[in-house]
Amino acid sequence: MKIHNYSAGPCILPQEVFQEASQSVIDFNGVGLSILEMSHRSPEFVEVMEEARNLVKEVLNVPEGYDVVFLQGGASLGFSIAAFNYLKNKAAYINTGSWAGKAAKEAKRLGAADIIASSEDKNFSYIPKNYEVPTDADYLHFTSNNTIFGTQFKNFPTSNIPLICDMSSDIFSRTINVSDFTMIYAGAQKNLGPAGATLYIVKKDSYGKTGRDIPVMLDLGPQIRKDSMYNTPPVFSVYVAMLTLRWLKKNGGVSWIEKINQQKADLLYGEIDRNSLFAGPVAKEDRSNMNATFLLGNEDVKSTFDEMWKAAGISGIKGHRSVGGYRASMYNALPIESVQVLVDLMKELERTKG
Ligand SMILES: *Cc1c(COP(=O)(O)O)cnc(C)c1O
Repeated sequence: MKIHNYSAGPCILPQEVFQEASQSVIDFNGVGLSILEMSHRSPEFVEVMEEARNLVKEVLNVPEGYDVVFLQGGASLGFSIAAFNYLKNKAAYINTGSWAGKAAKEAKRLGAADIIASSEDKNFSYIPKNYEVPTDADYLHFTSNNTIFGTQFKNFPTSNIPLICDMSSDIFSRTINVSDFTMIYAGAQKNLGPAGATLYIVKKDSYGKTGRDIPVMLDLGPQIRKDSMYNTPPVFSVYVAMLTLRWLKKNGGVSWIEKINQQKADLLYGEIDRNSLFAGPVAKEDRSNMNATFLLGNEDVKSTFDEMWKAAGISGIKGHRSVGGYRASMYNALPIESVQVLVDLMKELERTKG
């Protein structure tokens, strides 16, 4: 049976990427070695790393003056890397949900990290607006897309202090202006590749000014100087990320996928709003195009619906325990046909139980 994978992460990747990656586990490009057993210093892998970093620059239109590296530790270590490299006196954080809150918590270990705006009052169901960004903070940190609650910044905060953004769950899903940011970071496993690698896009000369003695694995300086090869990089994750970026580029890049992601979101949210059995908990203007959260009121109908989607091969739409209901993650590789399957089930449920 065809599985429609709505997992929030690790998530669906293009089928052709799985095909090629599985081939390379047996024999990488005909060299007779598996990608898993090759030295990361071999010319073959150095080329993979170079291509992956260059594809990031190309696909995201990264301007001159930025470095691109793949590190480890997930976005969760990115919370610390941001603070270790940029927090000198105080930092400003926007709290739009659990990841954003965890990022602020890590910064607080090192200094003042003020929450300058939060949507906690309404269980993170909206994106705060009309807040003031302190002009004397070292940076403003925010999370572009809130994977758990299903909200997304449609317009990024503007400020004359450096912007640092956790883009784990919507990077490569829409066009962005990298030059607005001092640092962008993203765990690979939401829209780019398997868990393991974490992408950092860093403005040159923006870091290293805190006077802090930074553990080397958290220090952007040596990591960037060594071109992501300070220690053994997560070779397979970087390799698969490279294949995914090739796929994206070949098909038309971020502007191509952005349109499709909008179509998928319009299709599902349209049905959530139309269907008398479902409701969306998030403020309409802040709805995420990546992670759509929705609720079903009646418990009796719920068990019917759960049987229906399981029978249809839908996987991974159970909501996070802090929101309940359902969460449909529609990352780049999820085809619109999968969204149609879900929408048709929602219609059928209303026809039989509404
Ligand atoms: C998943 C996620 C994280 C945590 O990522 P790890 O790689 O597991 O550390 C952080 N931020 C956002 C926005 C996420 O979606």
